Amino acid sequence: MIRIGVLGLQGDVTEHLGMIEVCGAQGVEVRTPAALEIADGLIIPGGESPTIGKLLTRGGLDVAIKDRAGAGMPVYGTCAGMILMAKEATGGEPLMLGLMDIGVARNAYGRQRESFETQLAAPAIDADPFRVAFIRAPVVTRVGQAVQVLATHGNAPVLLQEGRLLVSSFHPEITGYRGIHLYFSQIVRSANTR
Ligand code: GLN
Repeated sequence: MIRIGVLGLQGDVTEHLGMIEVCGAQGVEVRTPAALEIADGLIIPGGESPTIGKLLTRGGLDVAIKDRAGAGMPVYGTCAGMILMAKEATGGEPLMLGLMDIGVARNAYGRQRESFETQLAAPAIDADPFRVAFIRAPVVTRVGQAVQVLATHGNAPVLLQEGRLLVSSFHPEITGYRGIHLYFSQIVRSANTR
């Protein structure tokens, strides 16, 4: 059975682990480079990207994630996770893992009270529209040539893929929508980097 790690520093760690198990994979909480070693893929949950960034550098997890992603490990980042995975961010720069060729503007959807739930369509992932939550979400301001946009909200790309890397500016785990986790677990299964 494949093992998908969930970065356990902040955010909806338990919810992501639960959704991974529903997808038929084993979920492992990742707080150290040693825990990352046994994972075949990694989910970086939302939270506050500067805080997660600081905690990542403490134990050397930032370097371990960059190394594994560089060697082909699939990574899915939601919201703050997407900010950390981007090559550039505006609006207060957190530590950047710099994995995906996109630019993001932090908090560009507004404050907590401007957070919302909405229906999205992503035909590559699901034949039916699905419901997700945007919470102090980042807006994607630049999309690199090799990056595919899988879903948009208004004119903004909100779900993007570059090879084995997946990012969403929204949270699927808050509304319990499983399709993105299912899609990511298929990427992990077919990547088989060990
Ligand atoms: N606003 C947060 C940040 O800039 C992201 C919010 C979230 O992950 N829900 O890091």
